[in-house]
Amino acid sequence: MPRIDPARLEAGATVLLEALGTPTDAAAQVAASLVDADCCGHGSHGVVRIATMYAQMVDEGDLNPTATPTVDDADPGAIRVDGNRGFGQLTGRAAVDAAVSVAADRGTATVGIKNGAHLGRIGEWAERAASEGFAFIAFVNTGLAGRTVTVPGSAERLLSTNPIAVGVPTFGAVSHPVVLDIATSQVAHGKVTKRSVEGKPTPPAWTVTENGDSVADADAFEGGTGALLPLGGRSAGHKGFGLAVLAELLAGVVGGGEVFGEATPGSVNNAAAFVLIDPARFTSRDRIREAVTTFDNYLAEATLSPAIERPDAMDGDRPLLPGAPEHRTRERREREGIPVDERTIEVLSALAADRGVGIEFSLG
Ligand code: NAD
Repeated sequence: MPRIDPARLEAGATVLLEALGTPTDAAAQVAASLVDADCCGHGSHGVVRIATMYAQMVDEGDLNPTATPTVDDADPGAIRVDGNRGFGQLTGRAAVDAAVSVAADRGTATVGIKNGAHLGRIGEWAERAASEGFAFIAFVNTGLAGRTVTVPGSAERLLSTNPIAVGVPTFGAVSHPVVLDIATSQVAHGKVTKRSVEGKPTPPAWTVTENGDSVADADAFEGGTGALLPLGGRSAGHKGFGLAVLAELLAGVVGGGEVFGEATPGSVNNAAAFVLIDPARFTSRDRIREAVTTFDNYLAEATLSPAIERPDAMDGDRPLLPGAPEHRTRERREREGIPVDERTIEVLSALAADRGVGIEFSLG
């Protein structure tokens, strides 16, 4: 697949965001988040979103490209952030930064976020908190949008992919924070959208239809056929379902967002509960480093069987800590460029042409 230099992609994304009416500084920050998602292997939450989601949201008044988040930290025990339906990439930053300053003082901080529009790759916020030395927990709902996920025993689209993310700083024990950042469905819906853009089929384990089949055709799924299964799939979907319920309610209550059933579904408007914890209040950084190192070495000794299928991101001969795939992919792509398929370039170029801006997304 052709590759594109991250800096070139970021420059192009900034121009596109400006063309949607985003002020230059904000456009640059949003573009940096999107390109980082592309760099770390989550292209579903990368630059393609400008064309597949944000442009339409702006056109329909669901995303205000000039809005900035409002942070209310008058009560340090309950920080409230209103994204004002601006770019979620700005709101996520503001929320973590406010929580870092409170948690530095008190040991913990809880943030409720509403009107986040689309907070993007939630792992970015776990990484941002970890880079300041804080553990992180996030439960996110989508504010009555993105009904693509079913419940156990059904194929009706009732829930969203409600992501959860948990991060632990490692203080240099390994070269990345430990971050688990997952949709509570078998995959994020963006991964189906990306396959639809690229003209690729979806794996059978992702979806279900009313008669129990799966939906191989990503375009058909995008057109409304079938539903995503909760994480755990056909045999253990109650687990993902349970996590999705918790994210729906925690984000709805702490974030002050709405929950399914309360109003008519609309466009994505993430609400979230973020919790930051200073682990150094419980133990020393040396002890954390020792624990991570020992545990990582223990995992490295696992006996792997060639008869057992391995996940895509597991490109070596040992189990990885969560967060490692993103770190490895980022390092490689910053060096070698981001693989981008022709259709993604076409979609972005079509938006540029539509908005009358010249963009050079040529592949190197
Ligand atoms: P995924 O299935 O790709 O899983 C990613 C997580 O699993 C990462 O934490 C990664 O480090 C870990 N991981 C992957 N392979 C691993 C391996 N071999 N060993 C150890 N750990 C491994 O993610 P997903 O569920 O498809 O979600 C993708 C993205 O979509 C996430 O960034 C999520 O935040 C985002 N999302 C956002 C929204 C929103 O509304 N903002 C909604 C849903 C999902």
